[in-house]
Amino acid sequence: MEDVVYIIGGGISGLGAAHFARAHGLKPVVLEASDSVGGRAGAICNGEQWYETGGKNFASDWTLFNGILRTFHPPSFDRQHPSFHIVINGRLHGFDKRAALTNGLTMMRGIGLGGVLRFNALLRRAARERGDLAYFGDAIRAYEERHDDQPVTAYVPRALAQGPLRMFTVIMGAAEPDEFSFATLMLLLASFGKGSHHSLPQTTRVLFDYLARDVDTRTGHRVTNVVVENGRVRAVEGRAGEKPFRYQTGKVITATPLHRLPHILELSSEAGYAAQSIPYHPLALINADYDADVFTPTMNSIMFDVGSPLGHCSANRMYKRHSVRFTLSGRHARPLLVLDDERLVSVAENAFRRVHPIPGKRRFTHVTRHLGGICAYGFHYSLARRRLLAELDRVGGLAFAGDYLFGHNMEGCLQSAMAAVRHLTGETECYQRLHEYPQDTDSSDAPPPTQGLAPPCPDGTKPTGDLKAAMS
Ligand SMILES: Cc1cc2nc3c(=O)[nH]c(=O)nc-3n(C[C@H](O)[C@H](O)[C@H](O)COP(=O)(O)OP(=O)(O)OC[C@H]3O[C@@H](n4cnc5c(N)ncnc54)[C@H](O)[C@@H]3O)c2cc1C
Repeated sequence: MEDVVYIIGGGISGLGAAHFARAHGLKPVVLEASDSVGGRAGAICNGEQWYETGGKNFASDWTLFNGILRTFHPPSFDRQHPSFHIVINGRLHGFDKRAALTNGLTMMRGIGLGGVLRFNALLRRAARERGDLAYFGDAIRAYEERHDDQPVTAYVPRALAQGPLRMFTVIMGAAEPDEFSFATLMLLLASFGKGSHHSLPQTTRVLFDYLARDVDTRTGHRVTNVVVENGRVRAVEGRAGEKPFRYQTGKVITATPLHRLPHILELSSEAGYAAQSIPYHPLALINADYDADVFTPTMNSIMFDVGSPLGHCSANRMYKRHSVRFTLSGRHARPLLVLDDERLVSVAENAFRRVHPIPGKRRFTHVTRHLGGICAYGFHYSLARRRLLAELDRVGGLAFAGDYLFGHNMEGCLQSAMAAVRHLTGETECYQRLHEYPQDTDSSDAPPPTQGLAPPCPDGTKPTGDLKAAMS
């Protein structure tokens, strides 16, 4: 009889876990509470047009993500913006990812010589320690012990914290620098400038269609309880609409955001406290199309400053400059997330117009509220992570996958999914190392694997290059 594993959640962590479970000879069943898969990396359709409602960009050095793409996707991807703008003290500063010298001078105008020197020193330190800085291990622990009693703002000049560093805290954690730990900032800086960044021309929808194919995926199934008896998983219970369900099983992977975990699983008090110490900050993402271009070839991505309700805005794709992704995130956005869609869009447009005009009329809008939020890792994060994972020693047949384990991006989610599957198949220390995509894929028509894939850009130009070099 096949060994069935129930996976709770149909986002990239859950469907990634299903993909790896099949490769390990398990039979996955995915239980997803909502009526579609994709979670925070999902997509919606308007007529013929698809739009991502959350995560979409991936990097060329992500081994698991690119490993999956290689099994079904022709290697032609949309390129991420080669330039970006940052609002510092109300003024817009442009950076070209390829123009190191000009960037240095522009940075100096925004944050002063002291800020630039401090920023470069942080980047250099993170690059030097890149090999050791991971979401587990000793390097992060050492940073936490030295620095995590205070937030990022305690360690860097104000202008630097509220300008370039906010770019990291707000994009990666929907958090302000004074809400973010220095140790996790160093983790994010360590991956800065690695790989080139891309997105899927037909949106993340094609990835989820592929991952969900031939997997028993049950949408509209909300799990309310993972039944544990005598230190082992026995069943999952929940509701599908009005109908209750209970599935007997000895293997469960939870693949929900961390804050959902206490709602489906009785955690020890230490793990419960650890779960609470890792915050998730809510945000909203608006896709809006206009009948004229909003962005230009050299202005296509803007990071906003600390007083703005906008965290970040960009052209949906380089070739869709009339199509805007507004992200309302950070402290000033949070109280506004209760507004109705039209008001929320006006707030976003008004904040945007303060730094750049919006010509033309709006033709389409879609608002996604991610009230469950983005993981901001928290202070003394690696300690909390260890306490959470200790739960897996307590309960046999249980594994965790999600954005709170290996990083808040799609590769981090896949790393956690692989760790979860390996843990259930009896391997040890799976959560203490990164994983490679297995070379013997289950897809007979898979193209031959290429090591270190750098996806070519559709317009034939080179990948975007080293961000760090551009900023230094
Ligand atoms: C606006 C935004 C932009 C982002 N940009 C990027 C990016 O460009 N690149 C990148 O790599 N990452 C990005 N991210 C992060 C990335 O999208 C997330 O890390 C990733 O999607 C999280 O996936 P997940 O499967 O762990 O969680 P989720 O996607 O949240 O999936 C969890 C699923 O579990 C379901 N669920 C919850 N509770 C239950 C229950 N009780 N029973 C059954 N099902 C349940 C939920 O409905 C959900 O579908 C972005 C995120 C956001 C919000």
